[in-house]
Amino acid sequence: MREIPGAWRRTAQGAGLLSAEGAAAPTIFAEMSALAAQSGAINLGQGFPDEDGPAAVIDAARAAIADGRNQYAPGRGVPALLRAIAAHQERFYGVSLDPDREVVTTAGATEALAATLLALIDSPDDEVVVFEPYYDAYAAAVALAGARLVTVPLHWPDFQPDLDDLAAAVTDRTRIILVNDPHNPTGAVFSADVRAEIVRLAERHDALIVTDEVYEHLVFDGAHVPIATYQAAAERTLSISSAGKTFSTTGWKIGWITGPADLIDAVLAVKQFLTYVCATPFQDAIAVGLGLPDAVFAGIAATLRAKRDRLAEGLNAAGFTVSTPAGSYFTVADAAALMEPGIDAAQFCRELPARAGVVAIPLTAFVAPERRRDYATLVRFAACKRMEVIAEASRRLALISAARP
Ligand SMILES: *Cc1c(COP(=O)(O)O)cnc(C)c1O
Repeated sequence: MREIPGAWRRTAQGAGLLSAEGAAAPTIFAEMSALAAQSGAINLGQGFPDEDGPAAVIDAARAAIADGRNQYAPGRGVPALLRAIAAHQERFYGVSLDPDREVVTTAGATEALAATLLALIDSPDDEVVVFEPYYDAYAAAVALAGARLVTVPLHWPDFQPDLDDLAAAVTDRTRIILVNDPHNPTGAVFSADVRAEIVRLAERHDALIVTDEVYEHLVFDGAHVPIATYQAAAERTLSISSAGKTFSTTGWKIGWITGPADLIDAVLAVKQFLTYVCATPFQDAIAVGLGLPDAVFAGIAATLRAKRDRLAEGLNAAGFTVSTPAGSYFTVADAAALMEPGIDAAQFCRELPARAGVVAIPLTAFVAPERRRDYATLVRFAACKRMEVIAEASRRLALISAARP
């Protein structure tokens, strides 16, 4: 076999993202979705909704295509969307932005993350601090950019980091602190103390802050607080978000970045050679979505909150111990009471379709191999499915303690 070079492959292998041979390792998401398809189990594994979001958004995309909005958009994005993103940041967070200089659209939050890291990493000694468990694309993007991944653990049951661990992880080698809040996979919303400490450490060590706020409108108590609203953070923070989770349009891949013009320019320089531009009619439609009334956004959060509560009922009845999420699509539950000695959450999840007719993801899928032990009994369930699906999954789960092996 040929040796295929690439520093990122070695880093990605270390993070468990590639097989020993360097092939894309089949992800646990693919394995579990295949299990769901084979067994007819309800798939609460992967986080995508099973129904459409606001009709106004869907109709706007259809209208844009019918109106001939089918050619390349401007590099930064369709002007109406750039203005809608700036207006959204002002309306919800009081952040004023110049839509022509301080906003760029991307092919989802995924491209935003990759372009940001590729643009801002300077040397192989640069470190990117992330909270673990982490969204799987983070380790891959850090590896692609040729930087070092440094992790800060989040602890059961509320998944807040220890401030001492955080302070120890951020040093003068830290180029970027990458913050996902609300957090996937745990559903945590970081406390004000944690946010303030991130800002203090970034300032002290002259690090940049990159946020992933794709769940900004899926917060169940109170309002989301972006780190960019901290005065000391504004000049060193790039805020990433996406329409996919808010409007149940994960297949459209419309994301964006907001922040200081010089950092946005640096990211745009990379973005234009990754995807060049994003899909024109979907940008038009998301511009409409971002302008919908406050009540629509409140309704989206309230609907998901009710699903979260229904799912928790089922998990509790089944004998799981539930960590009640403050935001996001997900709920993490401890399955220790339902597991035979010697098996871990990955094995438990492989058996769950047969035991309960439900598919979930072990939290170990989101941690580096050497730390899987710390999360060995935890399982992630997605609540972003129709209420009757959540109710049926809850009913099925409630039966597993009765049918314990
Ligand atoms: C879904 C998700 C993304 C990817 O967003 P896209 O807009 O689909 O690229 C990024 N970060 C987190 C934490 C997510 O859950």
